[in-house]
Amino acid sequence: MLSNHLQNGIETAKLVWSRLPNAEEDAVELDEFGVLRRSDGTSVESESLDYEVIENYAYREEQAQRGKLYVGYYIGVKWLFSLLIGIGTGLAAVLINISVENFAGWKYELTFSIIQKSYLAGFIVYVLFNLLLVFSSVYIVTRFAPAAAGSGIPEIKGYLNGVDTHGILLFRTLIGKILGSIGSVGSGLALGKEGPLVHTGACIASLLGQGGSTNYHLSSRWFQVFKSDRDRRDLVTCGCAAGVAAAFRAPVGGVLFALEEVTSWWRSQLMWRVFFTSAVVAVVVRTAMGWCKSGNCGHFGSGGFIIWDISDGQEDYSFSELLPMAVIGVIGGLLGALFNQLTLFITSWRRNYLHKKGNRVKIIEVCLLSMITSVISFGLPLLRSCSPCPEPEPNSDIDCPRPPGMYGNYVNDDAIRNLFSAKTVHEFSAQSLLTFLVMFYTLAVVTFGTAVPAGQFVPGIMIGSTYGRLVGMFVVSMYKKSNIEEGTSKVASMTIVSVIHISLLFRFMHLYALLGAASFLGGSMRMTVSLCVIMVEITNNLKLLPLIMLVLLISKAVGDAFNEGLYEEQARLRGIPLLESRPKNQMRKMTAKEGCGNRKLETITARDAERHMHLNEAHFYFDNHTCIFFPGCLRYPVCNVGKATLKVHQIASGALIVSLLYCCFMFEHHILLVMVHSITLQHLTDTLLIFNMWKVVCFPRVVKIADVVSILRGNKHNGFPVIDHSRNGETLVIGLILRSHLLVLLQSKVDFQHSPLPCETRGGHMPIRHNFSEFVKPVSTKGISINDIHLSSDDLEMYIDLAPFLNPSPYIVPEDMSLTKVYNLFRQLGLRHIFVVPRPSHVIGLITRKDLLIEDNEGSAAIELQSTSV
Ligand code: ATP
Repeated sequence: MLSNHLQNGIETAKLVWSRLPNAEEDAVELDEFGVLRRSDGTSVESESLDYEVIENYAYREEQAQRGKLYVGYYIGVKWLFSLLIGIGTGLAAVLINISVENFAGWKYELTFSIIQKSYLAGFIVYVLFNLLLVFSSVYIVTRFAPAAAGSGIPEIKGYLNGVDTHGILLFRTLIGKILGSIGSVGSGLALGKEGPLVHTGACIASLLGQGGSTNYHLSSRWFQVFKSDRDRRDLVTCGCAAGVAAAFRAPVGGVLFALEEVTSWWRSQLMWRVFFTSAVVAVVVRTAMGWCKSGNCGHFGSGGFIIWDISDGQEDYSFSELLPMAVIGVIGGLLGALFNQLTLFITSWRRNYLHKKGNRVKIIEVCLLSMITSVISFGLPLLRSCSPCPEPEPNSDIDCPRPPGMYGNYVNDDAIRNLFSAKTVHEFSAQSLLTFLVMFYTLAVVTFGTAVPAGQFVPGIMIGSTYGRLVGMFVVSMYKKSNIEEGTSKVASMTIVSVIHISLLFRFMHLYALLGAASFLGGSMRMTVSLCVIMVEITNNLKLLPLIMLVLLISKAVGDAFNEGLYEEQARLRGIPLLESRPKNQMRKMTAKEGCGNRKLETITARDAERHMHLNEAHFYFDNHTCIFFPGCLRYPVCNVGKATLKVHQIASGALIVSLLYCCFMFEHHILLVMVHSITLQHLTDTLLIFNMWKVVCFPRVVKIADVVSILRGNKHNGFPVIDHSRNGETLVIGLILRSHLLVLLQSKVDFQHSPLPCETRGGHMPIRHNFSEFVKPVSTKGISINDIHLSSDDLEMYIDLAPFLNPSPYIVPEDMSLTKVYNLFRQLGLRHIFVVPRPSHVIGLITRKDLLIEDNEGSAAIELQSTSV
């Protein structure tokens, strides 16, 4: 009965989950796991970017019309944009810092004035103030800019790796990020503003690259110069570097951060622009700070931007100290790896249980966390007596020694400054450092992944510098002990050396704090070169470079033994398909043919169907590559494009039971082996398994509009080979056509023709009725969908010749090329599609290095314009 139902119902194309509503911005929100979901709960899949130049006729036409003047203009605009990105990011950083410090300043003024009368009232005001700030942040993020949650670095890393995650570079994400960071950082949560600043820089860069925001009518045609994802990628790289440069006042660190951590492709031309942008940021920030010093910015004075100048004093270290420093590296690796693991665990728990209940739960969660953090930061210092107070440091708000990090407003930067300071040697007892370490580590782990903009640099530095200082104290006590024991037996000279050494250790215990900070960041984020330079830039102390290098190498090696870096873990968790720089080992044994069409088992449950369709009836759409299995009994290869209408309760009862199912069958020379293991009874009774069969979906050169529509509806692929037939009947691949380009053609309709013959056959020329810019899809938003296009029945009966619009030179590899080689090609050229073909039989030429050493008549400018993405 069920089979009849199925067979009768199969009519038109597409799986139910590919019929998602259009990716309207408003319908999208970030889920608990950082995955963007539409209002019906379906996930918005990430798409690849087209970093490859699509050399269709429109592109070639446009290139032919461009003279040298245009090339100069194009390059000039790139530099202008680099300047604007630097200015924009610098100003955004200044705005965030001024706001954070002023909010926090007002909070402390108010709290301290009330505390004089009543501790309890002061405490309540303090908690409420923090709550207000945090609420504003989480409200903005959940209601207005879901993609602004978190640091944004995994998503930006994905973008620069070629994956477009919806919504990450929108105007409202930028606004949400800036306003959200002010609230979350100002409220004293265990997070920092550095990651959000990287995201802010990337958003500014991307918005400039696309000429502003069309959604908010803030765009200008003058800025709409860049037509390809490749150009925008370069700008976003500049934005990331600018973010780090602004956050740490570390311009070189910013450049290296972009190079080491976020980008996947790097060119020397890009290096200069990134360098320039970072330098601009440094100037903007410095100018703003100079202006603010004269009291123009309220509570914002010299603080705010991370710079802990510990260049004063004479940093020296002996060979024997290398061992405790290496120990700091090991501790950093262990604690960093543990941090990554715990955050991974908690984020996945949040996804599966907590955040399923909606935005309200996210808001309550963050507010609760803020209250707990406030209670700890207010209450912990009270547990320790404040006498005797040391001489207050100039420009310091510390009036007595309390556990670090508990100075409220200055919870982050100033606490670290104290930990790094050589002048606060005696202020922290081991007990308060340990208490603080446990508390802050826990808070940082729990705060990570909440729905507010949050960076992990400052929490990392806080944690690391605390245990670094603890290790320093331990080393001092060991030296003291050994000195007392040895004092009686050893020669006097030895004792004198030890005493001098102890005094040195006391003087330079802040070095341990600094090394601890570097080790934790290295152990968690697994950066080396950039982190090393950032640490040197923010501490203004070049002499420490070798020590920081040593500690970073050890902590990275230890961390790598346990898990991946924080950003890679988070990217994987969020479903961002990052291509790492190295292929996996097993790829060496696989060929290109074996690698393509790599499919996952797709399942849909009756409950899913009910949720999606809001009906007791689900519509399932199948194309000619879809097979349906009811576990264990029947198989329905659907060979014609069709639609099945199934009653949900029928799916539930019809899906029968097997505990282990092996299906292996042949389909057009491709073998699909499916293994379904240990399915629980509950799962089986309501699961319909759908397997997509692998077969390349191609277009003929001249294709009927109805077929285009049906194929586009029938699958989600974004690139299709276009085939033609030679006179002797041989099938030729003539190029690659993108879905987005087909949609532009369907929407404009101007290229439709009545004849099923190619235009040359009919004596015509290749028609060029489109500008290349028409094929450019908006940044970080899904373009039009096939369901948006309305075609009459007459339109559907017409044809279109795809030859002028396809990319005639896609990358092609022979089927037996090893998958490692394919991976390297794909990764290094930033490709989106590669065709796998049978071993070609004819050779028409051979290119060597010498063929590529062509005299450059056009000048390097043209190379800049047309260079590939390598
Ligand atoms: P991306 O997702 O990177 O933007 P895409 O959308 O073109 O690119 P997908 O549809 O996501 O690619 O690819 C999923 C799987 O489908 C891959 O295994 C790929 O080999 C296969 N695939 C892609 N395009 C086609 C096609 N035209 N015909 C058949 N299989 C395809």
